[in-house]
Amino acid sequence: MRYVSTRGSAPELGFADVLLAGLATDGGLYVPERWPQLAASSAVTYVERAVEVMLPFVEPDLDELTLTQLCTEAYATFRHPAVVPLVQIEHHQWVQELFHGPTLAFKDVALQLVGRMFDHVLAERGRRVTIVGATSGDTGSAAIDGVAGCEHVDIVILYPLGRTSDVQRRQMTTVDQPNAHAVAVEGTFDDCQDLVKAMFNDVDFRERNQLSAVNSINWARVMAQTVYYVTAAETFADPVTFSVPTGNFGNVLAGWIAREMGAPIRDFIVASNTNDILSRFVNDGDMTTRDVVPTLSPSMDIQVSSNFERLLFEMNGRDGGLTAEQLTRFRVTGHLAVEPDQRDRFVTGHFRAASFDDDATVTEISRIHRETGMLLDPHSATGTAAAALLTGLDGPDHPIVTMATAHPAKFPEAVERATGVRPALPEHLADLFDRPERTETVANDLAAVQALVERLTRP
Ligand SMILES: *Cc1c(COP(=O)(O)O)cnc(C)c1O
Repeated sequence: MRYVSTRGSAPELGFADVLLAGLATDGGLYVPERWPQLAASSAVTYVERAVEVMLPFVEPDLDELTLTQLCTEAYATFRHPAVVPLVQIEHHQWVQELFHGPTLAFKDVALQLVGRMFDHVLAERGRRVTIVGATSGDTGSAAIDGVAGCEHVDIVILYPLGRTSDVQRRQMTTVDQPNAHAVAVEGTFDDCQDLVKAMFNDVDFRERNQLSAVNSINWARVMAQTVYYVTAAETFADPVTFSVPTGNFGNVLAGWIAREMGAPIRDFIVASNTNDILSRFVNDGDMTTRDVVPTLSPSMDIQVSSNFERLLFEMNGRDGGLTAEQLTRFRVTGHLAVEPDQRDRFVTGHFRAASFDDDATVTEISRIHRETGMLLDPHSATGTAAAALLTGLDGPDHPIVTMATAHPAKFPEAVERATGVRPALPEHLADLFDRPERTETVANDLAAVQALVERLTRP
């Protein structure tokens, strides 16, 4: 498979180069030159189906045997034999639990695999990289866990000192691998992000340290997520609606791709918290940025959904020049509007949307617990709330699957407030608060952070 940039002027690349590059040189995101179609399946397990779904995207850079090995290892880290089990909550309604991976968030589904793909490709090329990233919580721990123990990758994750939850911090600081480093910055999450950007913009530093990233825009992450839409949809006799708690649009985009590949999917519900830029776009065809408001579902507290660019590219008939122009204008004006006929073709009948503030989220966690006994985390609760709201009083007449994106024990305060029950950490993390922490603290200063990165990654 060859890949093209959504902004039309970067060189075409194969899968392995796209994996390592992340962003294209023209500032765009890589997408495959075409959407392969699902073939008849003989798969029994999740791993077998994952290999069938992803093979056309990775060949010839990875062969079937290699992909099978990488998927087998990645999904052996999940604590459920079905990897991403479907749990019924009501007539015609299911939740797909994507949180059985090592760090209890759906990001593990992609990052456990992507970390291993990095290591494999780098080993083949005799190269070594240093992944740097910033996190407000979930992504950092999933990224660290995904590459911990990889031989050809060092990882340094910056997090804002005192501003992550104890569970989130400990998931990063207790990983006992010499190549994994969590660094507390005396500043905010935005400061951490700015420091990462500045490190990448320092060409000399970037080259010397072979900097790399595993952002949510990395194609391989989106690709890995298409698999569970395929397996879930294939479980049902009728086409499915998916309700997806949404931040950077990576997860729901993966669903859209699964449908392009022929998976029996009816449509998508985009669920947001108070930061509802995507819901407003779906409902009004108009995207306007506002300030980010902190909520109980922090992984959805975003202003600009980076992966939306891939859908916009499709809406523009794969015209990279037009996409680049629209996004440049969006950066300047904070406003993006699409033509009514584009909206009719890509949004109407394909996406619905709803947003919920913290009070409504807590009410929904409480409702689901009362009706089913299930504890939902605040992100997942926006998804079931949207599914309930948009299907009306009679309930759906076809299957609806809500993506449960985090384990409730990652957000124990909100869940306890809603239900009176404090969710326990699963067994493999039960001793998280007894494990020794290893972390460094650094000033919000580029030179200091760069010196620390070099000290940590060059023993
Ligand atoms: C990252 C994340 C999301 C948002 O996913 P996107 O792919 O950015 O839309 C939702 N819920 C949880 C728990 C997450 O960690």
